[in-house]
Amino acid sequence: MAREYNTIYTYTWDLHDEGIDRALDRIAEAGLTNISLAVSYHISTYFLPHNPKRKLYYGEDGAVYFQPDPGRYDRTRLRARVSHVVTGPDYLPVLVEGLRKRGLGFTAWIVYFYNHHMARTFPDCAKQDAFGNPYLAQLCPACPDVREYVLALTDDVVGNYRPDGVYIESLSYLRFNYGFMNPKVFAEIPPRLQFLMGLCFCPSCTEAASRAGMDGDAFRAEVAALLERELAKVPGPAEQMPVDDEFLDTALGGKLRKYLDVRTETASSLFEAVVGKARSYGNVRAETALLSKTGQAFSGLDAARLLPLIDVVSTGIPDQRADIAPALQKHRAVLAGETRLLGNIGPADMFPEVLSDKIGGMREAGGDGFTFYNYGLVREQQIRWVGEALKEKR
Ligand SMILES: [Zn+2]
Repeated sequence: MAREYNTIYTYTWDLHDEGIDRALDRIAEAGLTNISLAVSYHISTYFLPHNPKRKLYYGEDGAVYFQPDPGRYDRTRLRARVSHVVTGPDYLPVLVEGLRKRGLGFTAWIVYFYNHHMARTFPDCAKQDAFGNPYLAQLCPACPDVREYVLALTDDVVGNYRPDGVYIESLSYLRFNYGFMNPKVFAEIPPRLQFLMGLCFCPSCTEAASRAGMDGDAFRAEVAALLERELAKVPGPAEQMPVDDEFLDTALGGKLRKYLDVRTETASSLFEAVVGKARSYGNVRAETALLSKTGQAFSGLDAARLLPLIDVVSTGIPDQRADIAPALQKHRAVLAGETRLLGNIGPADMFPEVLSDKIGGMREAGGDGFTFYNYGLVREQQIRWVGEALKEKR
């Protein structure tokens, strides 16, 4: 049987602030086999209970946690912001060296399109709704500079730091309210209108639709007119219809479906290209959260097309132990035989009984390991509990 794959999501600053040796020893002693280290990340405000330097950290709104290699970005005008915590070119290499020394695997955890800083700095590459508003938290996967940028970023990270895997996050179209900050959305927007509001109609997206045989700009105008009309109304029960296949197939005289098909090609081809770029350096694992058919209309990621490319997928673990095996079986049914399926264990699960139940249940059901979230966000005692639970008899 393959060794269980147990990874812990970790921020670079938590390792540096605590002392690399001390932090990595603790992770290795807990029986973790791998670290998923954030190298490109989005905004958050963090409470870091065991960080000696910053208990509370107002993070940057989109940054990379290494020193980029400028020569790799010749084909794009986009540039990432380097976080202030990065002290120099050795910032990431010393972490990689430390975990290699302990026999820990290294996954580069890369957040791609959820980035306020870049969407604000390059608004012509941000998602734009039907009215032309740029969404200043989201880059659009159709923008040619964005496409080159994500390939360059992947090339930079994988080529220079040689991770065993890349955890791919937000490399897709993102939902309407993804990245809203302190939102004041008090007038209700029903689900189908929210869905239409969330579609990108930037010039790259409408041109792609036109190339595929529809009039992208006329469709944008049609969606804008519909939204203008419908958003003015106070929604009643009739407006509460979900975003289901019937809506997706028939809305706007079938044109919505055509537009979504173009988006699917745009986002899925880029995802494939990023996996291909990572693999150009050898046997680098592609890792991501489990993709679903229902998510495709929102993300543009075609689960049937992309899942066969993915080596490791992670998914939630049901709270009731009896539900774990059926859930796992359902997920397995859509995965290639070689794909490893991991269960996510979050901060609320990191208590002895829950850990024991979820870890035991997943092992019985034939899971391949776990992702623990997140080193800096939980207490030291919780990392020790993880270690104890992982050592329980299998
Ligand atoms: Zn777009």
